[in-house]
Amino acid sequence: MGPIDFSKFKAIKNEYAKAFDYAELFGRITGLEKKYPDFNSFIAIFSSQTVLKNIVMADEKKLPVFKKQFDNCTVQFDNGRCDFVKDKKDCGDCKTCRENKRKKAFHNEIMAILNYKTKGKNAIRKVYPKIGIKTCYICNAQYALSVQPEKKNKKGNSVQKRYSAKFQFDHYFPKEKYPGLSISLYNLLPICSGCNLIKRNQEIGIDFLASDTDKWTNKFTFKIVERTLSSFLLHQKPLEIDFIDNHTYPDGMTKLADRYDIKGIYNTQIDLVEELITRKIKYSETYKDKLSASFSGIFTNTTIEERIILGTYDQEKGIHKRPMSKFLQDINVQLDAYFQQIIKEDKKSPEVI
Ligand SMILES: [Zn+2]
Ligand SMILES: [Zn+2]
Repeated sequence: MGPIDFSKFKAIKNEYAKAFDYAELFGRITGLEKKYPDFNSFIAIFSSQTVLKNIVMADEKKLPVFKKQFDNCTVQFDNGRCDFVKDKKDCGDCKTCRENKRKKAFHNEIMAILNYKTKGKNAIRKVYPKIGIKTCYICNAQYALSVQPEKKNKKGNSVQKRYSAKFQFDHYFPKEKYPGLSISLYNLLPICSGCNLIKRNQEIGIDFLASDTDKWTNKFTFKIVERTLSSFLLHQKPLEIDFIDNHTYPDGMTKLADRYDIKGIYNTQIDLVEELITRKIKYSETYKDKLSASFSGIFTNTTIEERIILGTYDQEKGIHKRPMSKFLQDINVQLDAYFQQIIKEDKKSPEVI
């Protein structure tokens, strides 16, 4: 729920692109022309090996341009409703159902050729650790890792299956609708298992390819419910977290806040906020100065005291490096303003005799 640092994608783009044999892929895609003449407008988008490679490597600005080409194509993959049986998915006999079946067959062919399932996934997992983004791009509450079984070894004599932690990806433009973008690097965004279950083949209605930080300003904000903050400070009463979702969604799309219950997730993380408040109160300016002097060599880009007190990356660019970063950054801004206000009022009020 914040800008993704796409500059890091640039560095691994070429290495990722090397995983595919464009001559072979191009040959196989154009080879479908005879069997699927009704899908030629789709096939025509892949007009050369170079275009195919460009689709794979398309960056955050070019990817939406290719998406538009697929949107304007006469071939669309959403299923039509059966002509005969209402609410039934497939009567198997009517014109629409036959068309659906044919679309599915073509979709399967494209997916098999581009082969995200094995080749694409392996390729992105290989280069992804170099990007440094580790959290789910939707919730920012979890790492985008899932533990998955290793392939069985050939001898098959291992007693216990081996598992390993692997990055999990979402097709930002869903592969069900955009099979042509299924191995496009910038279309593969890291996701946690929970959000993946909810998102499935849907679009999300938020332009996550907008890396421009201005576009994200004040769209999504975490806040401590203010009255609970004062009652926490004065009487140690429980804190409550609010999540403000000011984004304008396309018609019919549910807000991120509601669909993914962001508020619910983050209200289980109150202890992080309590610790942040404690650190902010206890670490005096003198202590911070001492820390800075002692560890001046460790953090070169930012002030050490901010990092230590916040407990995570303090720049907006860093939010996808560690879970909860967006949350802690937002709360930190609120707390700074709150404490500033108290100091101001303290100075104003006359001394009590
Ligand atoms: Zn039918
Ligand atoms: Zn998530």
